[in-house]
Amino acid sequence: MPAAREPVVAYVALGANLGDARAALNAAMEALDELPGTRVTARSSLYRSAPVDAGGPDYLNAVVRLATGLTAPRLLERLQKLEQAAGRERPYYHAPRTLDLDLLLYGDARIDSPRLTVPHPRMGARAFVLLPLAEIDASLVAPEALAAVAGQRIERMR
Ligand code: AMP
Repeated sequence: MPAAREPVVAYVALGANLGDARAALNAAMEALDELPGTRVTARSSLYRSAPVDAGGPDYLNAVVRLATGLTAPRLLERLQKLEQAAGRERPYYHAPRTLDLDLLLYGDARIDSPRLTVPHPRMGARAFVLLPLAEIDASLVAPEALAAVAGQRIERMR
């Protein structure tokens, strides 16, 4: 029998800006908790943010921390299946989406494959990732990084 893998701490960003975005994010957080060998160990608040480089309605965003026995490629596959199950269509780049799931961090792994880049290459430029991530684990986000995105419109929801 193969040795059980030690769970890895991973962070996933969630976003949605079509349909009932709040319901989509809540359902996705529950689905993440049900992935094989995976628990959601922290959830940020929901945030409302303006679309970056795109039109359309505001996004709702959140970040969760996972403890997972899945490998990073398997976790990405599962994230993509959840996106598809949420009815995401991608008619054009940056099109509005019912559910977007990005793998931000996977332990301290650095991955640069054609399908997967970790840490996520654009996370440092996005308030809608950095604010919820800092809410969960402040030590992961430098104050200068937060200062650099201070001009982006984002609001934490009650
Ligand atoms: P997006 O439209 O932003 O959801 O991008 C999806 C594409 O990004 C897919 O083809 C993924 O294979 C690729 N990708 C690369 N790195 C990541 C990552 N860390 N998290 C999610 N998708 C990624």
